[in-house]
Amino acid sequence: MMAKSNGTEARVQVAVRTRPLNQREIDLKSPTIVTIQNSQVFVEKPQDKHHTPKTFSYDFCFNSIHSDSSNYASQEMIFEKLGVEIVKHAFEGYNACIFAYGQTGSGKSYTMMGSHNDRGIIPRLCQLMFDQIENKIKEEINQDINIEPINNEKINDILSLKFSSSYRVEVSYFEIYNEKVRDLLNPNNNHHALKVRANKILGPYVDGLSQLVVTSYQEIETLLIEGNNYRTVASTNMNNESSRSHAVFTLKLTQTLSTDASETQSVKVSKISLVDLAGSERASKSGVQVEQARFREGCNINKSLSTLGLVISALATRQSNENSLKSTKKTFVPYRDSVLTWLLKDSLGGNSFTIMLATISPAYDNYEETISTLRYADQAKKIVNHAVINEDEPGTIIRELRDEIDKLRKELADAKAEKSAEKLNAEIKENEKLMQTISKDWQERIAETDKISKSLLITQQQKRNDPFFDVEEYNSLIGVANIFLKALFYDSKLDYLVPIINTQGEISGSLHVVLVQVGTSSMKKLSDFQPNNKPRASISEGISIETEERSLSEHSNSQNSLDDESNDDIIGTSNDKTDQITVRFAIKEVRDLPQCDGDRVMCRYTFINQKEDQKILSIQSASNDDDTEEQVGKKPRIFSFNHEKEYTFTMTDNFIATCLESAVSIEVWYHYSTIPLSINTNANNERTRRDAEIRALSNRWKEVKRHIQYAVEIHELDASGRWEPVEVDAQQPQIISGGVYRLRQGQSKRLVARLRVIPQSGTMPLVLHAIRSVEIGSINTR
Ligand code: ADP
Ligand code: MG
Repeated sequence: MMAKSNGTEARVQVAVRTRPLNQREIDLKSPTIVTIQNSQVFVEKPQDKHHTPKTFSYDFCFNSIHSDSSNYASQEMIFEKLGVEIVKHAFEGYNACIFAYGQTGSGKSYTMMGSHNDRGIIPRLCQLMFDQIENKIKEEINQDINIEPINNEKINDILSLKFSSSYRVEVSYFEIYNEKVRDLLNPNNNHHALKVRANKILGPYVDGLSQLVVTSYQEIETLLIEGNNYRTVASTNMNNESSRSHAVFTLKLTQTLSTDASETQSVKVSKISLVDLAGSERASKSGVQVEQARFREGCNINKSLSTLGLVISALATRQSNENSLKSTKKTFVPYRDSVLTWLLKDSLGGNSFTIMLATISPAYDNYEETISTLRYADQAKKIVNHAVINEDEPGTIIRELRDEIDKLRKELADAKAEKSAEKLNAEIKENEKLMQTISKDWQERIAETDKISKSLLITQQQKRNDPFFDVEEYNSLIGVANIFLKALFYDSKLDYLVPIINTQGEISGSLHVVLVQVGTSSMKKLSDFQPNNKPRASISEGISIETEERSLSEHSNSQNSLDDESNDDIIGTSNDKTDQITVRFAIKEVRDLPQCDGDRVMCRYTFINQKEDQKILSIQSASNDDDTEEQVGKKPRIFSFNHEKEYTFTMTDNFIATCLESAVSIEVWYHYSTIPLSINTNANNERTRRDAEIRALSNRWKEVKRHIQYAVEIHELDASGRWEPVEVDAQQPQIISGGVYRLRQGQSKRLVARLRVIPQSGTMPLVLHAIRSVEIGSINTR
């Protein structure tokens, strides 16, 4: 079968999946232009009569447009075709990888992660891996032991013993946004970006990333839910910026196998990387606000995606050169140019079975993007990887690391060493740290995972106990205002109205803030580090055909961290780590909100990497509660704040890079009722809590009333047998009710109540036909 010693050539497998039409496409009456037959995709242009459909062919083509078509591909079928093979390879000791590529909304996340009811590749793959481990262990037990009836408890004991001695599964889940890596599994870790480093023996890795040990599928499921939650929250903060981030889920399987013949053991390690890439659409088409797009220019947002394109095209060129034996020059592959390609170097042109999964929309409206995705996928077909079984004796890596440390120590002792002592020391430290992490006792690792899971639970619980935090009950999100910290690089005070963007990407108010640099501990100010204006990344344009050729070896200087390099050219020299900077930040007011349905406004933010969440309520205004419906609609309401806070930071390279590229996101919420802020955590104070609940409820009811128009008419049966509304005298000023009507004798009467939702009065969903009863005041006789 596969040669163990020198590996096996494996062409990257390419799959394409087309999703159903979405509501927008249905509303636009956009025709379906994609047809799938066997392993071919046809794309037609409906207006163009002379146009012959474009044809593409791939290893797998999945039609998920209509569930009733004969070749409909369900989540399950896609997993059968792609995932099962990957699990098989993993047990053989090969690395594997799936990239999901496509424009935003084309079904990448749906295919990779899926929904709760219809799970995608990632959860199914994890499940199958654990099922197979269990089967294998059971098989082994059956072979090993021939004790007749053993009770269940004993079987379980043996199972778990066998499991922990032979199989280890570790998971990690991170996100690359704007060339920064964030841990999605450890809430204590995701406040700051993690560094990407390269080690001579281990290759590129993320320093400090949680690698959690899992012993069952259920554990992974919990971790996935938490990681995905974090992604969702972050995406609201960033106005759907999550479409611009890459999510990488990694499953590592370590098998310790003892061969019967000799007493020796061997260890097989395989890594499965499952990557949900950022949306591939070109920036101009993605519908992001111009304002924001402008800020992003020169940032690294799509650098990973554009580099991936370059890497793929370089690998394709390399392969065709090799095939034709044409060029002797080795094509340069720019792996190191982005975090994504650097970390997944092995999966592209390296040691891995790799699948590129391209997702497309079936609608004419997305014609351009669909064609561009299909072309991209075409390129990927040409890449050939070189997969080898990762099989070693136990402890090989640790031994190699130890050798490396010894070598470095010797170099350090040698006076004529080329590298400086400082650098050598740093390298030694790094290797020692890695060795420590790797050789950490398994039980210890399991305990760590446990600790993180518990802390996840505790944070969830805390959120539940704190009524102010219980956002669903008492607050409703208006939108997010982003304050870009680049402003700190200029010497002037920032005093302006920041637009509040709601989750639909529309402006829904403005937030008045003041941001000013008030002091530094030394002569250095942020404005001394002028932001470098040189363009740092081109926005991805699908694949550029041009291939960069450099004489520089890609392996040179491999000990350097990628992060350090990229910082250097932003800020020049700043080695003085003791510089401090103080920034004063004030929130003044919120105005121009769509319609006021809460009586106060709450702002919530975290300033750069400060751990503490700031939650501020607007100053209570006296009149608000008595407003009638009409007044509320007309009066421009301004919510004032007296929030001012100073933040002090050490001016590290990291801090400066953060200021250059990121923003402070301020969430703006409507706040219902007057829950006392200071005592709200006192859960024992049952009465206060009840009062607060009642008030919140009555405020909600007020809110409902504002969205509904109601009218009552009195009808009388007139002489011709028709029900006609009668006139009610409402002119007299002393009348506080709907009006006075004098009953006529002997005539049938009817009350007609009309209810209607006022259009554009807010987002509160009201279902009128679910109203059970309507009560109308009382009738008084005079
Ligand atoms: P992406 O991750 O590429 O931005 P999503 O996976 O979030 O896109 O898909 C966008 C929307 O389309 C989601 O609401 C998702 O549920 C739906 N969708 C995508 N693919 C399918 C499919 N094959 N079947 C049904 N719904 C799908
Ligand atoms: Mg997605």
